[in-house]
This record gives sequence, C-alpha cells and structure tokens, in this order.
Amino acid sequence: MPSDQRQFRLDVDELPTRWYNIIPDLPEPLPPPKDPEDGPSRMEQLPNMMIGECLKQEFSTDSWIDIPEGLRQLYLQAGRPRPLFRALSLEKALGTPARLYYKSEFYSPTGSHKVNTALAQAYYAKEQGFERLTTETGAGQWGNALAYATALTGLECTVYWVRAVYKWKAARLGFIKMLGGEVYASPSDRTEAGRKLYEQNPDHPGSLGIAISEGLEDSKNDPKAAYCLGSVLNHVLLHQTVIGLETQKQFEKAGVYPDLVISCLGGGSNFGGFALPFMGDVLTKGKKIQFIAAQSQAAPNLQGEYRYNFADHAEITPMLKMCTLGHKAVLEPIKGDGLRYHGCSPIISLLRHHGYIDTVAYPQDEKHVFESARLFVNAEGFLPAPESAYSVCCAIDEAKKCKETGEGKVIAFNVSGHGFMDMEGYREVLGIE
Ligand SMILES: *Cc1c(COP(=O)(O)O)cnc(C)c1O
Repeated sequence: MPSDQRQFRLDVDELPTRWYNIIPDLPEPLPPPKDPEDGPSRMEQLPNMMIGECLKQEFSTDSWIDIPEGLRQLYLQAGRPRPLFRALSLEKALGTPARLYYKSEFYSPTGSHKVNTALAQAYYAKEQGFERLTTETGAGQWGNALAYATALTGLECTVYWVRAVYKWKAARLGFIKMLGGEVYASPSDRTEAGRKLYEQNPDHPGSLGIAISEGLEDSKNDPKAAYCLGSVLNHVLLHQTVIGLETQKQFEKAGVYPDLVISCLGGGSNFGGFALPFMGDVLTKGKKIQFIAAQSQAAPNLQGEYRYNFADHAEITPMLKMCTLGHKAVLEPIKGDGLRYHGCSPIISLLRHHGYIDTVAYPQDEKHVFESARLFVNAEGFLPAPESAYSVCCAIDEAKKCKETGEGKVIAFNVSGHGFMDMEGYREVLGIE
C-alpha cells in the first residue's frame, strides 16, 4: 500500500561511501576518446592539464569507486544526503493516478547538482598539490560551484565566463567573486585564444568553445593549475551518481520502485548521476524502467548523429564518440542555458544508441516548460532552475498521460537546481511584470 508520506530522508551515516561506475555494465565497451587524424596529439596533453585521479577514473573499469572520507565530509558540509519528496500536492493539482517523486538537488549551496563533482575535483586537486583550478562557464552554475569548492578546500579559482551571459547575471557574478573566484568575461585579453577575438571586438559575446580554449590555455601555462570540466566526461557522471544512489535507498524506504526515471539533459551529468544507478538495475538485474531525457529544441543533441566529434569549438580537446549536433553547430540562446551544448556524454550516448533512453525536446520559446515550473512552484513550493524546469515539465506531461490511461505509474524525476538567480528569465518568458 502506498502511504502518503511526503519526505524520505537518509541519515548522515547513510550517505553513500562509493560511487557507481556503469562502464563495465554497458552493453558494449565504451569507445575511448581519440586523436583526430591531423594535427598535434590532444591525448598526450591530458596528463598535463587534468587532475590525475580524475583522469584515472575516466578510464576505470571498476564497478565501484570509494568516495574518500575527507570528501564525504565535504558532501555532508554541503548538506548531503538530500531528501526525496513525494509530490503529493502536484499529484492532486493534476488529478493524476501517477505517483510522483522528486530529488531535491535544489538544496545545493550554490544552486545546482554541479557541487557534487566540483567538490570531488577540488578535493583531488588539493591532494595532488595543485594551487589553482581553471574552468569555463556558460550559464554560470558550474563556475559558481567550482568557486565554492575551491573556497572550501583552500584553492584558487579562475573562471572564463561567456561574455553574453556574464553581462546580465549580476547576482551569480557577485556570488563567484564573494567566494574569492577570479572571473573574466570571455573572450578576454589574458590568453592567446581570447586576445585576438577580444582585440577585434572588446564586446565579443563569446561562446562556451572559446571559454574552454581560454581555461585550457591558462592551466597549460601554469604547472600549479589544473583544468576542470563540469559535465560530459565519465568521471563527472561518476561523481554525480551520489544522487541516484541516495535516491535508490530512499525508494527502498518508500517501499516502491520507479517505472519511469526522468531528468533534463545538457551534457548529461545530472541525468547520468540520477539515472545511471537505476540503469545498472536494468542492465544487471533485469529491472524494467523507462528513462526519458528532457531537452530543448535549441540543442536536442540526443537526436543528433552518434559519431566521433570534438568536445569544443576550437578543436583543442580529443574526439569523443557521442550523440552530437556537430561542434560548429550554432545553438540559439535559451534561458535554460545549461542545456545548450552540442554533444552528449559518451556513456549516455551509447545507452541512447542501444535504445535504453527516450528523449523529448521542448520548444525553444520555453513557454510550455516555464508554465510547468509555475505549476510546480505553486503546488510544491520550490522554484526549479530553468534547466530543471525541463525535468519538471516532462514529469508533469507523463503524469497527465497517466490520467488519460488511468495508469498509476511511479515517476521519479530530478530537480537539478533552484532558480533563485534566474527570475529575470522566468519573468521574460512568462510575462511577469
Ligand atoms: C548545468 C546544469 C544542467 C545541465 O547540465 P548536465 O550536465 O546535463 O546536468 C542542468 N541543471 C542545472 C541546474 C545546471 O546547472
């Protein structure tokens, strides 16, 4: 009998002690990153730029990887474990027989799940003796998460922020700086990659690709600095599995098991973190679950081709086998900017290729998606990040289908972040005066 309990919590000592690595359980070996046919080797550069432990994890075939005790303490400091909620009020508002459960990554201190990998990367960087981390950020969530993690671990942080977004997200910029982060609008005049573009046009809007090039170049020129990425790569998804592992334990406590697992997807880190432990049940225990990744028509990368492609615009990175729209694709701006990336994580792409993941891409005007966010905040009381609104929207759409068919499906969805610093976007799209 399903109860009407609203919240499922874990004790401090139930915080996972290991991450789940899905790589050995995949239906075929994961195609490795590789160099393009022409030009210098990108693969040889990786050990100079990346954190050693992260690089090791990237290629690990161990099913379980221990979370170091010092890092578990940082996860506790950041408020983990996070509750799983039953969306009883939303169910009532929708009049659906479906049972909806959502994971509360919006309790993150900087506003998104990205803190889970930022803390891991900063922890390992500190252990290895690095003094500074460099990165790029688009929507600002990743730069903010890394600045937070470096503040807690006693490292410096340099963020290259796509100028077009840097200019209008004043609250996020202030937060990164308050955490001691050094922030530059990209393209900047600090790197060779940025300087040429900057000199041509000091108001150049920039792109994630350019900002990646700047972050990489900055760390390459400083032996005390390492470069960090906030999504796409295997080790990032690995760190994020803490979300799904907690959720599995919470479903056990609830005495139910999901029929449907949903999250939004940009590069794949929150979807992967939430869904991969459940995917492991499907691949190794014969469980049946439908997975849906919610995307924007501005960047429906899961509908793209499955092939080797660069991860960045400037072709500095190795090539990854992934579902991609092409690294030169022009992606229209949306408020859920964190979902705007040309390619999807190789792990998620392989699973998509084998038919394990369904996808939906919502219209670029974001009206349907943000109306769902409005419904959610009015019923449940939590304001999702614009990206997370895609997850909420997909769960609501599926719950409405259940109303038509009378099915009492158990729907699990991840709310990857809060929208406290994104009200301008909501106001614009929803026409709130
Ligand atoms: C960055 C971000 C995303 C999208 O990135 P993924 O790597 O696909 O998870 C989703 N939600 C929030 C709140 C984000 O900050």
